[in-house]
This record gives sequence, structure tokens and C-alpha cells, in this order.
Amino acid sequence: MLANKTALVTGSTSGIGLGIAKALARQGANIVLNGFGDAEAPKAEIAALGVKVAYHGADMSKPAEIEDMMKFAAAQFGQVDILVNNAGIQHVARVEDFPVEKWDAIIAINLSSAFHATRLALPAMRAANWGRIINVASVHGLVASAEKSAYVAAKHGVVGLTKVTALENATTGVTCNAICPGWVLTPLVQKQVDAKAAALGISNEDAKKQLLGEKEPSMQFTTPEELGELAVFFCSPAGANVRGVAWNMDGGWTAQ
Ligand code: NAD
Repeated sequence: MLANKTALVTGSTSGIGLGIAKALARQGANIVLNGFGDAEAPKAEIAALGVKVAYHGADMSKPAEIEDMMKFAAAQFGQVDILVNNAGIQHVARVEDFPVEKWDAIIAINLSSAFHATRLALPAMRAANWGRIINVASVHGLVASAEKSAYVAAKHGVVGLTKVTALENATTGVTCNAICPGWVLTPLVQKQVDAKAAALGISNEDAKKQLLGEKEPSMQFTTPEELGELAVFFCSPAGANVRGVAWNMDGGWTAQ
């Protein structure tokens, strides 16, 4: 379905980003990966799906590096047809204790990076009259949790940016939508599981059950594979008039 299309997925060396990149690659899209850490293993996983793959290590908190990545992606495979704004970090602390540099980093990586990549991707998408911008927000783009001020502010911002981008392009073939996962067992969440296990002196398994029990009625983690299939739907012909939604995949979290 996505042969000859190019998808750039930010923060795709692990977790949800890699899951979405693999789902898009299975549909034939060439993939530009981004993120920190080892890029060789994710590159090999994508290449094994029979598509072309490239990697750019832009730090998504730095607008100049984002510009460089967008130019690199276009030079590799023509143009970016599908942009998945996924890179993100977390920090947990009460507002009065929240380190200022963590606030700035979360707003830059989780919110401003999506603005920069989107503004740079739009002209070519509009010229082609086809494009898909998929913002990985969170249930925290819809509801709040204590001790996550920067993350909740950034994710609510991502949902707002999604709606504005969708509206500004509503008469074109360019759509913009957000995905709002509940708990997904990636390195980002494993840190929170470890912290809970240490704080309460309980096992990792019990900490996972507690985390789910507090918020996610299904008592199951959402998976990167499930989120990847939602991204595929947004890119499909049936998704052509889905515009500006914040689609939760959260085991009932926000239905409560
Ligand atoms: P993860 O830690 O597994 O992956 C994060 C990715 O972002 C990695 O590839 C990392 O290298 C990259 N990254 C971090 N800082 C970066 C920077 N400055 N520049 C470039 N890349 C950077 O986490 P994940 O859980 O897969 O999170 C992916 C996205 O999903 C995030 O936006 C996160 O907020 C969101 N999300 C996660 C969950 C969850 O439960 N895991 C739930 C809702 C939303």
C-alpha cells in the first residue's frame, strides 16, 4: 500500500517509534530512522522487511539538527510523505520540585520538535497533494496525572498542534492526526516500573500490575505493534478524511 512512499519516524531506535516504522515498512514504505543509541540493529530489522532504510541522528531538541534531518531525508528518497513525530522523554516530579532544565527539554523534544518537523515537511506534502502527519501524543494529551507537568503540558500541546495542522490542510490530501497510547511497556515506562518497585519494595511484576491497576482498566499494556497498525490505518485510503483526531489506544484509561 505504501510502496514508493517515504516515512520519517522520529525517535525510532526503540519502543513505539520502531514499532510504527516496522508497520509502515511492512506496507512498503522506505524508512528514515532517528533517535539515540544503537541504530544498526533497528536498521537491520527494517531492511529485513525489504525496503530502503536510512538513519539520521538529529537531536530533536535542536531546530538546526531537525532542519538538517529533513534535508537529509529528502536527499535520500525524494521527499517525506509520512512524518511520524514520536520522539519523547519523561520526567516525574511535583511542579515545585520540577528541574527547570527538564521542563525545557521535555517541551523541546515532546512538543517543539513536532512543530519544526511539521513546518519543514508540509511544503513538499502540499505540492504532492498527499501527506500524512502522525503525532504520537498520549492519554496525557487528553487527561492529566500528578507529577507529570511538563509531559502533560507538552502532550496537550501536541493534540492542539494536531488539530491546527489538520484544519490548515483540510482541503488538501494532507492529513494530521494524533495517537494517544495508554501504558506501553517501552524503556520510557520500564523506568517508572523500576522506580515504583524500588519505592515500594515490590517485584517488577507487581509494580507493573500496580501501574496498570491505577489507570488502565484492561490491565494490559498497549503494544508498539498495535500502535503501528493504527498509523497504517491513517495512511490508508480509508483514512483520507480522518482529520485532527486524538485517537486513544489506552485500554479504557480515558473512558473512566
Ligand atoms: P522510548 O524511550 O522507547 O523511545 C523514545 C525514542 O525517542 C528513542 O528512540 C530515543 O532515542 C528517542 N529520543 C529521545 N530523546 C531524543 C532526542 N532529543 N532526539 C532524538 N531522539 C530522541 O519511549 P517510547 O515509550 O517508545 O516513547 C515514544 C513516544 O511515545 C514518546 O513521545 C512518548 O511520550 C509516547 N508515549 C509513550 C507511552 C508509553 O507508555 N511508553 C505512552 C504514551 C505516549
